Amino acid sequence: VKLFKLGEFGFIDRLKRLAPAGRGVEQGIGDDCAVIHFDARRWLLTTDTLVEGVHFRRAWDSAEGLGRKAFAVNASDIAAMGGRPRFALLSVAVPGSVAASELEGVHRGFIRAARARGCALVGGNLSSAPQWMISVTLAGEPAGAPLLRAGAHPGDALYVSGVVGAAAFGREILLRRRRASLRTTRAFLRPEPRLALGELLSRRRLASAAIDVSDGLLQDLGHLCGASGVGVVVEVNRLPLARSLRPLPRKRALELALGGGEDYELLFTVPAAKEHRTVVAARPVQSIRRIGRIVEGRGIKLVDASGQEVSAGRLGFDHFKRKIKK
Ligand SMILES: [Mg+2]
Repeated sequence: VKLFKLGEFGFIDRLKRLAPAGRGVEQGIGDDCAVIHFDARRWLLTTDTLVEGVHFRRAWDSAEGLGRKAFAVNASDIAAMGGRPRFALLSVAVPGSVAASELEGVHRGFIRAARARGCALVGGNLSSAPQWMISVTLAGEPAGAPLLRAGAHPGDALYVSGVVGAAAFGREILLRRRRASLRTTRAFLRPEPRLALGELLSRRRLASAAIDVSDGLLQDLGHLCGASGVGVVVEVNRLPLARSLRPLPRKRALELALGGGEDYELLFTVPAAKEHRTVVAARPVQSIRRIGRIVEGRGIKLVDASGQEVSAGRLGFDHFKRKIKK
């Protein structure tokens, strides 16, 4: 079977069977980070790659900007587990024709972003390749009990941080034109990992489950619900749509917000008894919005303001199924 038929997540399901959890593994393949026990402590491990022609085009950003984004998208997975990034490995592959200053730029952007978050670059790898590839591995320490995707219960409220849809809209603008103002593309080029919020949710035991929105809100919500064995009702009128989506037709804005991906916001569930405390605690840290409720059963149900079911439309971003064309 071809990968584009199986899909990224179909393949990950195969991997889970190929790589059973070993000694010291609390959470193996299938969450935002692995949770391992080493030296009598818990550590979070995650890795992610940015590939030219798939995740970005070289003309879209500076080398520093790419380095910075590579850190952010990995740190977002640490945030989704409620941890702090501590140590990083950075592997970069570029064509041999690239200037040394550009390669240095990737590292400089990465190191600056990592240091600002208390994370040290401790190694990596360099290679030549026909196109740019930036691969990162992070080790993080959990602030409290790691926030897993499994753990949501019927009755829990579903929250999302920040706004959604801006990154996908920014990517669309970049795909259409070579250059665009950073104002419209910032959400795509400069995502901010929600580390303070993740840490708060974990340390104060407020969230029952969490995931970051990398592949699209509906897709990632599907992973959270699947891991938790629950269903969910999402009130689409409560979605915190990015301001940049306002000029768009409502249907298009919802498509970007629900299926676009790369928002790197946190999607998390909160037991009803902890909702008030969560809203109060999050206020000085990060805007959050309740967008739905976990229910018994399976699947994602979208409802409008009057409670009428609306169709889901196009779903998230699956790596082997869709690519940015060069
Ligand atoms: Mg993730």
